Amino acid sequence: MLIFAVSFFQETATSWGFFGHKKINRMAVFTLPPEMIKFYKKNIEYLTEHAVDPDKRRYAVEGEAPRHYIDIDHYVHTGDDPFEVVPKKWYDAVDKFSEDTLQAYGIVPWHVNVMVKRLTKAFEDKDVDRILSVSADLGHYIGDSHVPLHTTENYNGQLTGQRGIHGFWESRLPELKAINYNFFVGRAEYVENILDDEWETVQESFNAKDSVLDLERKLNNEFPTDQKYSHENRGASLVKTYSEEYSTAYHNMMNGMVERRLTSSIITVGSYWYTAWVNSGQPNLNELLEKGPSKKLEQENLELDKTYRSSKIKGREHSD
Ligand SMILES: [Zn+2]
Repeated sequence: MLIFAVSFFQETATSWGFFGHKKINRMAVFTLPPEMIKFYKKNIEYLTEHAVDPDKRRYAVEGEAPRHYIDIDHYVHTGDDPFEVVPKKWYDAVDKFSEDTLQAYGIVPWHVNVMVKRLTKAFEDKDVDRILSVSADLGHYIGDSHVPLHTTENYNGQLTGQRGIHGFWESRLPELKAINYNFFVGRAEYVENILDDEWETVQESFNAKDSVLDLERKLNNEFPTDQKYSHENRGASLVKTYSEEYSTAYHNMMNGMVERRLTSSIITVGSYWYTAWVNSGQPNLNELLEKGPSKKLEQENLELDKTYRSSKIKGREHSD
């Protein structure tokens, strides 16, 4: 007798899926000015591959999870503007709500700001390992903050009977549709105030989250129930996922939103890398072309992968 492990793929995927995050970091390289692009191109495989390290770290590192989101609607009653209520500056927000509360409901905009400062320092030190690892991580967090469902307590539709919508929007749709997206996003630009800019991103994401949820609910009510899901082979598992027909219908209803958030992530990643480099005094990166990631960094990455794989296997035992 054959026994299939049926798991719901969307439940286990996190943030833009691995596909989306890798795409964002990779394409961001091509937005960079001539002084930066050689170094970044030479290391493009590293930046692509490690675009997903922060998600792997969620299993291994305490305090990692809240860096990926902010449940901004936690702070207000429905209808009130959370961006009026939550202070933009970290210490003001800590004064108002306490650090424990902020950590409990997510810190992505502040963490992006911290990462840009770390990248600036890495450029000042001409520290290749740090430039690469922080660039890759920063790209990840920027990508996350562009995802509407990373800004709400109802992040997986669990409060509205739409469980699974998180991975549907950010993994399934880009995997199916990105082939038709236009990835020519222009050139990286200097950003005067990273924190303000990042808060704008979070606000745009939050403004889009009602459409993300409402349109899926509408489609769910109209669509034949028996055609909503399909089963696909992934490795040894048979996986339940949103059918292509349902995915296409939802994607059409959103009228380009996934593409806009994905491509906006790309130009933002390029612009923040560039801004860190400018703020560090524009060091000559061509002097660093001979160096790649060190053995030490590669070893650390191998260990992260090991921890991630074993925690994933454990996680699967629970969910199946
Ligand atoms: Zn993430």
